[in-house]
Amino acid sequence: MASSKPPQMHFFLVPFMCPGHIIPMADIAIVLAQHGVLVTLVTTPLNAIRIKPAIDSAVESKLLIRLVQLKLSEPTGLPEGCESVESIPSRSLIRHFLAVVSKLQQPMEQLFQQQKPVPNCILADKHIVWIKDIATKFQVPWLMFDGTGCFASVCNSNVLQSKVHETVPLPFQPFVVPNMPHHIEFTREQLPGNLNPICQDIEDLHESVAAAEEEAYGVVVNSFEDLELEYVKEYQKTKGGRVWCIGPVSLSNKALAHRGNKAVVDENECIRWLNSWPQKSVVYVCLGSVSRLTLQQLTELAFGLEESECPFVWAMREDKTGEVGKWMSEDGFKERTKGRGFIICGWAPQLVILSHPSIGVFLTHCGWNSTMEGICAGVPMITWPMFSDQFYNEKLIVQILNIGESVGSKVAVPMGMQDRFGVLVRRKSIQNAIVKVLLENGAEDRKVRAERLAIKANKSKEEGGSSCLNIKNLIQHITELSLGQYQT
Ligand code: UDP
Repeated sequence: MASSKPPQMHFFLVPFMCPGHIIPMADIAIVLAQHGVLVTLVTTPLNAIRIKPAIDSAVESKLLIRLVQLKLSEPTGLPEGCESVESIPSRSLIRHFLAVVSKLQQPMEQLFQQQKPVPNCILADKHIVWIKDIATKFQVPWLMFDGTGCFASVCNSNVLQSKVHETVPLPFQPFVVPNMPHHIEFTREQLPGNLNPICQDIEDLHESVAAAEEEAYGVVVNSFEDLELEYVKEYQKTKGGRVWCIGPVSLSNKALAHRGNKAVVDENECIRWLNSWPQKSVVYVCLGSVSRLTLQQLTELAFGLEESECPFVWAMREDKTGEVGKWMSEDGFKERTKGRGFIICGWAPQLVILSHPSIGVFLTHCGWNSTMEGICAGVPMITWPMFSDQFYNEKLIVQILNIGESVGSKVAVPMGMQDRFGVLVRRKSIQNAIVKVLLENGAEDRKVRAERLAIKANKSKEEGGSSCLNIKNLIQHITELSLGQYQT
């Protein structure tokens, strides 16, 4: 009698080299493995270090995940240790970095060929544009991972298709995004790189991502249906129904302190400090892994926090030149906020901090992972988008979900261009937003909405929840595809 046991599904995962892309991909590896899939996740050695603790702990609990390392071909022509976007020292090296990454195509192809059992599909970041050629060569579907949500994807596609942004003469003039379930306005200056004239220097790179995207078989999204159902449906329409929302993926990773880089502070020290504050009283500030502030803009943020008179945890990027530390001691900021300010200079254990009950608000740059993590923590947000999809995400948080307050940033500051802009957000706006979210009338309703959303986020991942069903549907779909029941 023939065995009815389903075949072992094998997914080949290739994340893009950037914390905001590799962290969720490692979470997705865990989610897939929790549903019985064998996962091979391929990245470079320094990026592997970032996710190894999470993958090791999953493997210890008997999940089938192989973490495979491929070295960038030497000499790279990049500074020592530069294997990830946030460590690229200047904007002029973005193109070179991508060229170095593209040299992985051949070793990646060989690696794919050596896999046993043969992978049933490739799930890869849209920025690894050449992955589609490997998928085509070996006749497996390429599922695209696009590190953002459905609202952002639909906004982007509707602006791109309609070219509505080209109809306004001035970059700061608002236009309405067509064919949206809500009235959504942006200005040209807020748009992500693929639509923003300021990013012309890498226009061709954006074009190649857009072209590759068209060839993806389907899309895996770190979102959940209850968060943005109307936009999930819109996105489905443009992708022939092959959109699988399987998030929030961070909920699958139980190693909270081991996410991304090793934190520069002891997690217990953070918790002890947070324990000393009342519930929902502390501001957590983190503007992601890639954005950089000029010293002038950073000091405005510092004064905004100081003048709010609220306790705060501030995760800022490593102070490589020492100018921030120097300013903080010379100005007396550190002394004046001693006791109520906890400054982390380098990688922070974001999920540990966000999940602490004393956190009352998250001041975020609206990176999609941070947005999802803030939603899962049930905290209101103060939004300060910088670039990429972040202005889209701000609209979702503030206007649609109504769980945030904007600091009023009006212009995107693309990666590596901060020096051109000076101060865009003043201390008063930061102070006002904090006071509004933590202390003013109406703050309670916002908190309640944020908490309800967190409950929905958790439910979506439980047995019977939409994301749990979607992950099963995805695996079933790929299984049937492998057995020849669908046409690619
Ligand atoms: N992150 C962290 N500690 C930090 C900075 C960032 O753990 O000090 C994590 C954060 O939790 C999130 C990711 O890094 O998972 C950043 O992704 P996001 O999409 O929010 O922003 P990006 O860094 O890509 O701009």
